[in-house]
Amino acid sequence: LSESLESAWKKLRGQDKITSSNIKPALQEIRRSLLSADVNLQVVKTFIADVEKAAQGADVISGVRPDQQFIKIVNDELVKVMGESNVPLAQAETPPTIILMAGLQGTGKTTATAKLALHLRKQNRSALMVGTDVYRPAAIDQLKTLGEQIDVPVFEMGTEANPVEVAKQGVEKAKTDGIDTVIIDTAGRLQIDQNMMGELIAVKKAISPHEVLLVVDAMTGQEAASLTDTFHQQVGVTGAILTKLDGDTRGGAALSVRQVSGQPIKFIGVGEKVEALQPFYPERMASRILGMGDVVSLVEKAQEEIDMADAEAMQAKMLEARFDFNDFLKQMRLLKNMGSFGSIMKMIPGMNKLSGSDIEKGETQLKRTEAMINSMTKQEREEPELLAKSPGRRRRVGKGSGHQEKDVSKLVEDFRKMRSMMQQMGQGEMGMPGMGGLG
Ligand code: GDP
Ligand code: MG
Repeated sequence: LSESLESAWKKLRGQDKITSSNIKPALQEIRRSLLSADVNLQVVKTFIADVEKAAQGADVISGVRPDQQFIKIVNDELVKVMGESNVPLAQAETPPTIILMAGLQGTGKTTATAKLALHLRKQNRSALMVGTDVYRPAAIDQLKTLGEQIDVPVFEMGTEANPVEVAKQGVEKAKTDGIDTVIIDTAGRLQIDQNMMGELIAVKKAISPHEVLLVVDAMTGQEAASLTDTFHQQVGVTGAILTKLDGDTRGGAALSVRQVSGQPIKFIGVGEKVEALQPFYPERMASRILGMGDVVSLVEKAQEEIDMADAEAMQAKMLEARFDFNDFLKQMRLLKNMGSFGSIMKMIPGMNKLSGSDIEKGETQLKRTEAMINSMTKQEREEPELLAKSPGRRRRVGKGSGHQEKDVSKLVEDFRKMRSMMQQMGQGEMGMPGMGGLG
C-alpha cells in the first residue's frame, strides 16, 4: 500500500497532461450533454473542436484526472464564449434610451417589454412602452394591461396605424415627456418572413435604437442558431433576451445565440409574471447547459488548494531536507481540503479497492497527526530534532494533543525517516508518515 501512496503522491503533484486519447470519453460525454441541452449541432462541433485543440498539452492539476480537467476547461470556455460577465443594458448619453424588441411571435416580446420597463422603474428610470403590433387588436390590449399592472405608460395609435409611424411618434413622445427609456414592442410572425423583416428594418432605420434586443424562446432548440443568424444579418441585433428558462429546458439556445451573433444575452425570462426577469449570468448558464457541475466544482476545489509555486518551493525544500512539520501540515491540509480522505483516495487509480475501514483508519491517523503537530511549538515544528532529543518535549506534545509520548516519538521518527528518504530519492517521492496506520 505504501507504493500506492507513492503513486498517489505523484498524482497529487500533478504530472499528467491533456492528450487526445485521455479525454476521448469526456469528449463524447460533453458532446452528448450539449446536444441534449439543445445547442445547435454545428455550434457544438465548432465549439468542441476549438476547445479540444486549445486544451492539448495543458497541465492537469493535482488531484484530478485529465478528463475531469478537460470538462472544467470546456466549462470555462463556455463561460468565456457567453461573455464572461453580465453586460448591462445600453444607456444613451442623452435620454431617451431607445430599445427595439425583435423576435418571432409567441417568444415573449410583449411580456419582456413590460419586464424590462419594470426593471428600469425599479432603478428609478422612467419608461414608455410603444405598441407597434397593429395586426392583432389583442396585442395592443395586452400591452396596455401590462402597463397598468406595472404603472408604466403605453403609447399606441390603434390598429390602423403604420408601425414605423407609431415607433417614430412614440420616441417623440418619450422626448417630450422626459422619459428615460422607450421600449418599442413589435409584431412577430410565427416564422421568419420578409414582411416582418422589412418592417423591423424600417422601424430601426426610423428611430436609430441604442439596443436591438432579439427575444428568443429557450425552447426553440436547434432552430435558435439559424433564427439568430437571419435576424442578425438582416436587422443587426445588439443583444438578446432568452425567455422561458423557467421550464426544464437546459438553455442550449444561449450558446447558439451567442456563438452565431457574437452579441451578449442580457436578460433571461423565468416566468410569465412581470417580475420574472433576471440578468444573464454566463457562469450559471454554462453550468446549466453543460450539466456537469459536480466535476467542475471538484476541479475548482482542487485548483484553489494548489498553489503551484508553493508546491515547487516545497519540493525544493524536500530535496534540501529543509522540509519541516509546518510544510508537512500544509500538505496534509491540502489533502484534506480537497475532500474527504476517502473521496481523494477513490479518485486515484488503483486506490479504489480501499475498504471503508481502511479509509476510516487513514482519516483517523491524519487527524491524530495533525493534532500532534498543532501541539508543537513553532520552534519544534521547524526543528524536529528538538523533539527527537527531548522526551520531555514529546510528553508535553502528547499531553497537549491527547496522545502518549510514544505516539509523538513514532511520528517524529517516521517524519525524520521520510525526510532523509526524500532527500535520497532526490525526487521528492515520499511515503507519508501519519498514514502508517494504513499499511
Ligand atoms: P410575443 O408574441 O413575442 O409578444 O409573446 P408574448 O409576450 O405575448 O408571450 C407569449 C406567451 O409566452 C405568453 O403566454 C407569455 O405569458 C409567455 N411567456 C413569456 N415569457 C415567458 C417566460 O419567461 N416564461 C414562461 N413560462 N412564459 C413566458
Ligand atoms: Mg407581442
